[in-house]
Amino acid sequence: MRRHRAVFMDRDGTINEEVGYLSRLEELKLFPETNEAVRMINESGMKAIVITNQSGVARGFFDEEFVDAVHCRINEMLGEGNAFIDHFYYCPHHPMYGKAPYKISCDCRKPKPGLLLRAAEELNIDLAQSYMIGDMIKDLQAGHNAGIEKAILVKTGYGQNVVHAGTAAYVAQDILDAVTWVMKDRER
Ligand SMILES: [Mg+2]
Ligand SMILES: [Zn+2]
Repeated sequence: MRRHRAVFMDRDGTINEEVGYLSRLEELKLFPETNEAVRMINESGMKAIVITNQSGVARGFFDEEFVDAVHCRINEMLGEGNAFIDHFYYCPHHPMYGKAPYKISCDCRKPKPGLLLRAAEELNIDLAQSYMIGDMIKDLQAGHNAGIEKAILVKTGYGQNVVHAGTAAYVAQDILDAVTWVMKDRER
């Protein structure tokens, strides 16, 4: 069976505005560039996958049903522009805060690669031929830890404050700039 390539994206600060712990649907605002960026991924045949730490669940700020509702809403909004996220993966844990069963040292909280490895297994993805995009260094590290060679830092969200882009293959102004770079790079 043919293996897929994927563009993995962080959520808060990367495809939607970073608001701290997003805990009400009204706070969800996609960046204006997100729709076109995701549509480009869809049209390329690559998978568009969101990988997000949501320790607000462990901390008791919101529950897993709310996280699912946010992801449904993201795809509703994207659908208006004929774009969609293929899959969402999130980590609800935190090693120090909150209570059982979420207060654990899991293998899925970025920079750990657990969510990416799970996605690769479930969706038959070739990680070495895939990309990771995020606004924090730990997003890039999660990608590398999973075997992704090329990770892109976006200068939105917390990315505005990152001084040393570390191992970034590219530093993008926003998600559309990042995906445009990916589309050129994949043809090399
Ligand atoms: Mg982020
Ligand atoms: Zn986790």
